[in-house]
Amino acid sequence: MALTTKVLIVAGTDPTGGAGIVRDIETASYYGVKASLAVTSVNVQDDRHVAQKMPVDADIVEGQMLAALKSNEIGAIKVGMTGNASNVNAICDVLLQFPTIPVVLDPVITASSGGALADDQTIQAIKNRLMTLSTIITPNLAELARLNNRSCALNHAEAIEQGKLLVNLGCSHVLVKGGHEKSQTSIDSLVSSHSIVDYSFERLNAEMRGTGCALSTAIACNLAHKKPITECIRLAKEYVYHLLEKTGTKTE
Ligand code: PLP
Repeated sequence: MALTTKVLIVAGTDPTGGAGIVRDIETASYYGVKASLAVTSVNVQDDRHVAQKMPVDADIVEGQMLAALKSNEIGAIKVGMTGNASNVNAICDVLLQFPTIPVVLDPVITASSGGALADDQTIQAIKNRLMTLSTIITPNLAELARLNNRSCALNHAEAIEQGKLLVNLGCSHVLVKGGHEKSQTSIDSLVSSHSIVDYSFERLNAEMRGTGCALSTAIACNLAHKKPITECIRLAKEYVYHLLEKTGTKTE
């Protein structure tokens, strides 16, 4: 099958293949979407810890993005781990030149192993600039709290309130994810200035690295296929649900 629809992945590496760029490209390939790539950070990490990070120079990040965007017709851009604040600014400078391409931002702050993947300056730059240039941002509960300078929401209503705060800062859609909540059903809510759309799934007793990477890239692939955003979220959620069901590690 010729892969014609294209997504640009702007993200960091995970040598285990559990998260980051490998997960992103696997997801794009599931959707029959061709991946273009800008590497932001080369990392040494595994399922237990993040040992080293080597952010790529900002001009190289910018160069990679421009090369991809000028050689291909890109249907959507997924931004994951950025590496540092200079990279965030470089990414924003490029995005401003391509304002019609939808952008999905997974604001990667901490790996599930607990290792930090973004420092305070990076988080501030994401909040001040990158978030407002994104079509949708997909923070987990901890990232949502960090972006709002608050403590982690204790229930879904509180998480939605934190999502609204990001919308008020200029982010057009926030997907508030219930994956780390304790309820029996896992509810995600797509929050925008005019609506809240809920997606309810049975909670699976399974875990897997890189679910955030897979979800955000799946949304980007569906946006590249020009589907409405509410449909993109539903399809991406279904994809991650089946991935977890098939390959997740059982937690009970
Ligand atoms: N490492 C990289 C490079 C990532 O982009 C991500 C994405 O969220 C992660 C790690 C986090 O994955 P996990 O939470 O599964 O550790």
